[in-house]
This record gives sequence, C-alpha cells and structure tokens, in this order.
Amino acid sequence: MAEQTPTTHCPECGGQFTAEETCTERYHACMALELTDPDYGAVHHFTVPAYMLQHPSRLSAEGWQAMAQILHEFLVDGVSPARMRQLIQQQQKTRPKSFSMVKGMPATQPSWTWTTTIMAVRLEDPALYCADVRAWAEAVHDDIQQNSQ
Ligand SMILES: [Zn+2]
Repeated sequence: MAEQTPTTHCPECGGQFTAEETCTERYHACMALELTDPDYGAVHHFTVPAYMLQHPSRLSAEGWQAMAQILHEFLVDGVSPARMRQLIQQQQKTRPKSFSMVKGMPATQPSWTWTTTIMAVRLEDPALYCADVRAWAEAVHDDIQQNSQ
C-alpha cells in the first residue's frame, strides 16, 4: 500500500492538487489537448484567460485588467477569437510599447476565494471538457464581477 501524500493546494487559484497533478501540470495537459485536437481546442480562448486570471503572478497589473476584459468580451459580448486578434493588433498599433501583459507593475493577488479552478475540468471527453471549461471561465468572470466594484 502506497502512503497517501498530503494534498496541497495552489497558493494562487486555490485548486486542490491531486497525487498526480498540480494546477500547472493540469494546465499543460489542457494546452496539449487543445493544441492537438480541435474538439478540445474549441474552448482555448476561455482556458487561457481563465487560467491566467487565477494566476496573477504571471501578469502585469495592466495585463490582468486586459485579460479580464478579454474574458468578458468572449463570454458576454460573444466576440470570436479571430475578431479578438484583430482588436488586439489594432490596440497595439495605437498604443505602441505603452502596455505589456507581463512587464511593469505586477498584478496583485485577488482578495477573494475563487469558486472553481482548472482542477474541476474533466479531460477524458471533449464534450465534457468544453462544458467544464466554459463553466469554469464563467465562474472566474462572475467572481471578478462580484468582487471588483
Ligand atoms: Zn493554481
């Protein structure tokens, strides 16, 4: 009988690690599926902002705000990923070098506890996966809306 290693959780998203996986490893597993299988890749534009928003140490303060806006536009305004790329390119032309997703003042750790994390996403089936990613992204969006007034 193998001894159970104590479960720990991520200091940023609060996700509960399993014996096999941390949330970073889960994210890499998701990216691997999304980039090789279009059935999984359909929700790539939700996975990336949801994960980044829950791990603000990876972003600048402005980058975090921009990511929250991007997620809002995908979820609420229904902007397509192709249209989003155009918008970002336009924005970069009008604001050259004034803005970086990662450089500058670091984003602060949110004061709230996230409702759900990437650890709740099921990977075994693309339909379940897409539904879970969407639900997770919506929860991230709702947590931000409710807490950053
Ligand atoms: Zn995490």
